[in-house]
Amino acid sequence: MSATKPKVLRGRQFFANPGPTNIPDSVLRAIDRPTIDFHDPDFIAVYNEVVAGLKRVLGTSQHLFMYTGSGHAAWEATITNLLSPGDTILVLESGYFSEEWARMAAAHAVEVRTVAADWRRGVDMAQVAKALNEDRAHSIRAVCVVHNETATGLFIPLQEVRRAMDEAKHPALLLVDTISSLGSLEFRMDAWGIDGVVGGSQKGLMCPTGTSFTAVSDKGMAAHKESKLARFYFDWTRMLGRPPHNSFIGTVPVNAFYGLRESLRLIDEEGIDDLVARHHYLAEGVRRAVQVWAGNDGPQLFCTNPLRYSDSVTAVWMPDGSDAEAVRRVARGRYNVSLGGGLGPLGGRVFRIGHLGDLNEAMVLGALTAVEMSLRVAAIPHGRGGVEAAMAWFAESAA
Ligand code: PLP
Repeated sequence: MSATKPKVLRGRQFFANPGPTNIPDSVLRAIDRPTIDFHDPDFIAVYNEVVAGLKRVLGTSQHLFMYTGSGHAAWEATITNLLSPGDTILVLESGYFSEEWARMAAAHAVEVRTVAADWRRGVDMAQVAKALNEDRAHSIRAVCVVHNETATGLFIPLQEVRRAMDEAKHPALLLVDTISSLGSLEFRMDAWGIDGVVGGSQKGLMCPTGTSFTAVSDKGMAAHKESKLARFYFDWTRMLGRPPHNSFIGTVPVNAFYGLRESLRLIDEEGIDDLVARHHYLAEGVRRAVQVWAGNDGPQLFCTNPLRYSDSVTAVWMPDGSDAEAVRRVARGRYNVSLGGGLGPLGGRVFRIGHLGDLNEAMVLGALTAVEMSLRVAAIPHGRGGVEAAMAWFAESAA
């Protein structure tokens, strides 16, 4: 056996990416069903159950539209259904995904204003308030926020954004990307006054990639009626006129819906509060491990602001001169553990540990053990005993 790569890898791969995530066996079994007409009353019952279940997880009783497509589809649908060419949006910078969403809006001739942020500390709410207060003409039509920035491992407190908008008496729509927060972090669309919510199937919802959606408030629907950007497949008005689904266009991916129904059942079974608590507890174990590795000038938490730690993904910042890809290569090639890589300017500088979805202590410890071994194999300086610290946390506290 070579020092870094066995000839074959046995056992199930430990999947520690921040999305897609592990798909529970019961979801895989649920998907494994014969085709059914997507207009069949039996399937419509499943469809309606999924819509109701998603609304429960989103915390909304308002509108929901769904698409065949990954998160990018929901991003694009949200922009094109709510805005007109030349409209201005305010994007709270968080990292790679806030930048991508902004680039997409700009490609649709939307004017993008940004509240710049230190990616390691997270956006400063005083700067958000300042940008809103300075917009006396109310030319900003929408404030766009990535709730949990998957590239950096920081979240943005949405209630504080809402408060800043209310205090500034700013009428803009509040649009939120929950792709790596829904089903992991606390999220309440209606209670928090959010107008558009972008979500996808493949992270906290524990399903295969390929189904995404936008939840929309009544205020958002009023804006939709005025919006003039070109759309067709994504057009919510066309969807509303398409019974029996009234929130989908084209062939509905029926097997994906069987999967979603089961994953929503699992979420209901656990209860959203317990689910959020489990994510926090598992995330804390990961952070404790990384904090120990940071000794000896080793890799450290990318997030330097404990108030913004993400409970669904941790980005690990490599010491100068060390390559994050070397860690990922050993983890994948020798220990069959898949980690996320650095995105955009963080390529090679961070690796990411996903800790969301269908996950328990032993799975997290397996991934952490592989990381700690990989640091040794790749000869990257680090403090020893990160896994021990995570074990202590899991042994001495409870979700
Ligand atoms: N937004 C966030 C926060 C994401 O993490 C991702 C993907 O990881 C996206 C948007 C884009 O979604 P997708 O890759 O499913 O198109």
